[in-house]
Amino acid sequence: MPSNPQNARARVSELRSLLQRASYAYYALDAPILEDAVYDQLYHELLSLEQQYPEWVTPDSPTQRVGEQPAQRFESVQHRIPLYSLENAFSQADLVAWDQRWRRLVPDWEASVGYVAELKIDGSALALTYEQGVLVRGVTRGDGALGEEITQNVRTIRAIPLRLNVQHPPDWIEVRGEAFLGLTIFEQINRDRSQSGEPPFANPRNAAAGTLRQLDSRIVAQRQLDFFAYTLHISAATPDLTVPETQWQALESLQKLGFRINPHRRLCQSLADLEAYYQDWALRRLDLPYLTDGVVVKLNAFDLQAQLGFTQKAPRWAIAWKYPPEEAATRVLNISVNVGRTGAITPVAELQPVQLAGTTVSRATLHNRDRIFELDIHIGDTVVVRKAGEIIPEVLRVLPELRPATAQSFTMPTHCPVCGQPVVQSEEEAVARCVNPVCPAILKGVLVHWVSRDALDIDGVGEKLIEQLVDQGLVRSIADLYDLTPETLASLERMGQKSARNAVSAIAASQNRPWSRVLYGLGIRHVGSVTAQQLATAFPSVAQLAAATPKSIADLHGIGPEIAQSVYDWFQTSRHQHLIQRLQAAGLQLAQKETSDKNAPQSLAGKTFVLTGTLPTLKRNEAKALIEAAGGKVTGSVSQKTDYVVVGEEAGSKLEKAKSLSIPLLSEADLQNLMK
Ligand code: NAD
Repeated sequence: MPSNPQNARARVSELRSLLQRASYAYYALDAPILEDAVYDQLYHELLSLEQQYPEWVTPDSPTQRVGEQPAQRFESVQHRIPLYSLENAFSQADLVAWDQRWRRLVPDWEASVGYVAELKIDGSALALTYEQGVLVRGVTRGDGALGEEITQNVRTIRAIPLRLNVQHPPDWIEVRGEAFLGLTIFEQINRDRSQSGEPPFANPRNAAAGTLRQLDSRIVAQRQLDFFAYTLHISAATPDLTVPETQWQALESLQKLGFRINPHRRLCQSLADLEAYYQDWALRRLDLPYLTDGVVVKLNAFDLQAQLGFTQKAPRWAIAWKYPPEEAATRVLNISVNVGRTGAITPVAELQPVQLAGTTVSRATLHNRDRIFELDIHIGDTVVVRKAGEIIPEVLRVLPELRPATAQSFTMPTHCPVCGQPVVQSEEEAVARCVNPVCPAILKGVLVHWVSRDALDIDGVGEKLIEQLVDQGLVRSIADLYDLTPETLASLERMGQKSARNAVSAIAASQNRPWSRVLYGLGIRHVGSVTAQQLATAFPSVAQLAAATPKSIADLHGIGPEIAQSVYDWFQTSRHQHLIQRLQAAGLQLAQKETSDKNAPQSLAGKTFVLTGTLPTLKRNEAKALIEAAGGKVTGSVSQKTDYVVVGEEAGSKLEKAKSLSIPLLSEADLQNLMK
C-alpha cells in the first residue's frame, strides 16, 4: 500500500478505473478482463484506502455498488427485498471478526445461535416469484435493487418448477438461488463456441450469467442451466406449509415445494464446526460436477437476521468464506538474480508477501531475459502471480494500468552477481549462465543437490551449513565433504560437538547409497532421478558409463540425444574425472551391487496401482519404478480396473474414490510386503 497520501491518491484513482472497467466487462459483457481473485484483492486494497481516506469515496466507486446497472435489453424490475452481494472472509480471522461484529450489534441476543453452512455455488443469483403456486417472474440480481426480468429464459431451466409441488400454495413466495452450469456442459459450450469462431467464456459463472441474459430463449434451453435454491420468502402459512423460522427449515420447505437444494449443507453450532465444514470441503469440492469458490455461512434464526438487516451492499447475517485463490495481485518490490547449480542466472521477483493456494508467497521466478521482455515487468509494478498446488510461483502478467511513475525497468546483469565473472548468453537458449567452475553460488547449489533427499540424502547437512562451509573455503568440491572431521565442523558458528559428529556420520552413511543415486547427485544437466536410475541399470558402473558414446546412451529407451550428449560431455571434463576418482577413494558406490534383480519374480505382474499422497520414504517416481520393476502398472486415476491404491499422507480425492469403489488400500509397508 502506498505510504504517502499523494501516491495513495493516485493509486485510488488507478484502482477505481481498473475495477470499473473490470466490473463492466464482467457483469455487462460476461467477458472478464481480470481473474476473480485478483479483482477481489484489488477491491480490498481500494476499500482499505477508502477507509483510511473517507473523503475520497465517490458514489460511483466499485466499493459503493453491487453488480452493474441492468442492461436495457430486458425490463428492469425492483426487487421486493434487496438481493445484495455477500461480504467476503479470506481467513478464519475474518470469520471470527464477522462473528464479533454481528454479536456487538445484538448484545441482548440470548438464544443459542446456530449457523447454516452451505457451499458457495459459482453461478448467477436469480429471484423467482410464484403467485398462487405458479412461476410468474424470474429476475436477475442486477445492482441488488433493480434486476432484469428474464422470466422466459428462467422457464427453460428444468430444476426450476413452473408450478409448486403442494396442493395449497401460499398467495406468493419468492425463492432465490443460484443458476449455474455444470462443468461438463460448460466445456461442451466452449467447444461449440470455438468451432463456430466465437470467443470461449472465461469461466462457468460468466457463461451462466451470459446465458441467462440471452434474448433467444431457445439458446438458453440448449445450454441446460441448473439451479440450487437457497432462500425462501413466503406470504403466509398454508395447510401444506408453515412459515419457516430458520434458514435450515427454509431449505427443507424449498425441497418440499419442488426445488433442488444442495445436499452438502450442514447445521453448525460453533465457529469450530464451521471451520471443520470448510476444511472438509476444501478438497472434496474439487470432485463436484460444478464449481464452488467458498462456503456461505448464514445465521440460522430469521428473527436474528431481521434484527441485523443489511449494509449498503450485503446482509450482516451472512458471509462468504472463500477458498484460497491460486492467483493474486501483488507488488514487485525488487528484482534480484539467483545463480543456480548449473550456473543459470535466473531473475526473481521479490514480492510483497501474498497468500496463494494456502501458502505465503514472496518470490516468483521470472525465468530469463526473454520472459522479462515479454512481461515488460518493472520494479514497482502490480503483477498477477499464480501458484497452483506444488507448482513454483510464477508471474503471469503485469497490470500496466497500475504502474506508478516511479517504476524502474530491469536489465539482466552482464556479470555474475556472486563471483563477478562475465555471464555467457548462448544464442540457442534464453538462459544466461555463469560458467566459472569455482563460482561459490554454483558450488553451493551443487552441494545442496548432492545432500538432497532423492540424491545422497544426507540429513545432517543443510543449506545453512553448506553456506558456511563454502564461504569459509572448507569445501571446494563435493569430494571435500568426505574429508571433513568433527573438529573442523565444531569450529563453525552455531555448531555444537554433537551436531558436528552427527553431520560427519551422516556424510559417511551416504557411502551406502546406490550408484543410481550417486549418479543423480552429480547433477549432470538433464539427468533427473528417473533417468539416473535408467542409466545406472544400463551402465552398471561408472567406468562403463564414462566409456559410453553418445549414441550408445541415446539408444536407451526414452533417452534423447540432448541427455546423451550432456552425459558424454560431463565425463570428458578433467575436473569431473578427478571428482570421480576422489569419490571412489572416499568409498562411494560407483557401481551397481550384484543383486538377483534380473531374475526376480514379477510379483506384481498384471496388477494396476494408483499412488496417492506422500509416502513415508519412497518418492512417487521411486514407488512407480519399483512397482514397474515387479511387473505392475501405475495409472493416474482410480477406476474399476485399479487393483490397489497405495496411500500416503494427505491423500486426496483418489482415496475417496478408492473407498467408494471398495478398492483395497495399501500403505508403503504393505506394498513392500506384497513385492516380497
Ligand atoms: P460473490 O459472488 O462473492 O457472493 C455473492 C453471491 O454468492 C450471491 O449473490 C449469490 O449469487 C452467490 N451464492 C452462491 N451460493 C450461495 C449460497 N449458498 N447462499 C447465498 N448466496 C450464494 O459476490 P458478487 O457480488 O456476486 O460478485 C462479486 C464477485 O464477483 C467478486 O468477489 C469477484 O470475484 C467477482 N467479480 C469479478 C470481476 C472480474 O473482473 N473478474 C469483476 C467484478 C466482480
